[in-house]
Amino acid sequence: MKVELLKALEFKHRVAERIRGELTEREAREARKDPHAKREPRPCGLTVHAGTGCSFACVYCYVPDMGIPMSPKPYRLSGTQLAYAIAVNPYTVLGESGTYLAFGSVTEPFLRETTERTLEYMRAVSRFLKNPVQVSTKAHIDESLASKIKEIDPSASLLVSITTLRRELEPGAPSPEARFETIRNLSSKGLHVTLFMRPVIPGISEEDGPKILQAAREFTDNVIIGGLRVTEGILRRLNFAGVSTEEIESRAIREVKGNEQVPVRVDDVKRFLTKVAKDLGFKVLPSACAANSLAHRLPCHMCNMGPCYPGLPEFDVEEVPLLGAALGFKVTKVYLKGPKIKVLGKGSRKATKRLKHVLSTVTRRMVLVKAS
Ligand code: SF4
Repeated sequence: MKVELLKALEFKHRVAERIRGELTEREAREARKDPHAKREPRPCGLTVHAGTGCSFACVYCYVPDMGIPMSPKPYRLSGTQLAYAIAVNPYTVLGESGTYLAFGSVTEPFLRETTERTLEYMRAVSRFLKNPVQVSTKAHIDESLASKIKEIDPSASLLVSITTLRRELEPGAPSPEARFETIRNLSSKGLHVTLFMRPVIPGISEEDGPKILQAAREFTDNVIIGGLRVTEGILRRLNFAGVSTEEIESRAIREVKGNEQVPVRVDDVKRFLTKVAKDLGFKVLPSACAANSLAHRLPCHMCNMGPCYPGLPEFDVEEVPLLGAALGFKVTKVYLKGPKIKVLGKGSRKATKRLKHVLSTVTRRMVLVKAS
């Protein structure tokens, strides 16, 4: 398959125009001012907030330390506004092989307060944008909700988070048993489900992890085993829940101070759980976006962890300067090496970042853009 770089931009403009036609002046202005229209995609994709806050009160959660009110409420944009915001975001590529969209992040998407908004956003993405969607959840999803999700987006990637069996660490969340049922209900509808075992917590995951993997194996083939970051608040809440944090603190890569999220060295725990998972026949995925790539059979080698799905598209290297010009970046040299593209030239910081995101997403390769 060959991709045409400039066509991706033309398509994006057409889609944005079409959505704009369904909004009032005020609604379009609100959408353009919203962070979804401005923020850069993260490695897992562009985070989509169907709400803010969460009532599950997991003690390892970093959201309370981000200054976000934890009382859950649906996000302020309508579905059409959300689609428009994503369409005018300068860093996104639209379409089935466009920017990954990751629902979750600062809320639980399937709380009583957020479910309708999540479904509304999924419908809007499906109707206007068609980008690959991933939703991470810790909710109990019954068969009826699983059917609705399937009807809206049959190829959505669902991450079901189960990282511990200890209720005191997730006092407001559905029980692990309810979440195993979530995996079963989603899988039985033919949805692509991945067990999301993140964060692993040293001293706890070694004991709980194998039991979780064993119980989930019947209903899914895929697992992500992810790291831990802590703040002072997280350490305090872990202590309050009866977890000794000495080991966690000794593994932190630097002193834990204030609200800064400090990574904790858990490679040994991840290696142990990876072996258990592989012995059980799981496919262990390196990251959340790898599950999204797999669910959508979308070739990707946009980072060192790839390739996550084979079959990178061909492209015409002569189109790179034209794409650069369309994005405000004057390209002087393009180097290709395997799945890597290096572009040299001149442009503002924003144009540099924009070219990097757009070129990387359209070609599905690792891109480095350097402005002199
Ligand atoms: S190569 Fe894999 S891990 Fe890297 S961005 Fe693509 S899907 Fe994600």
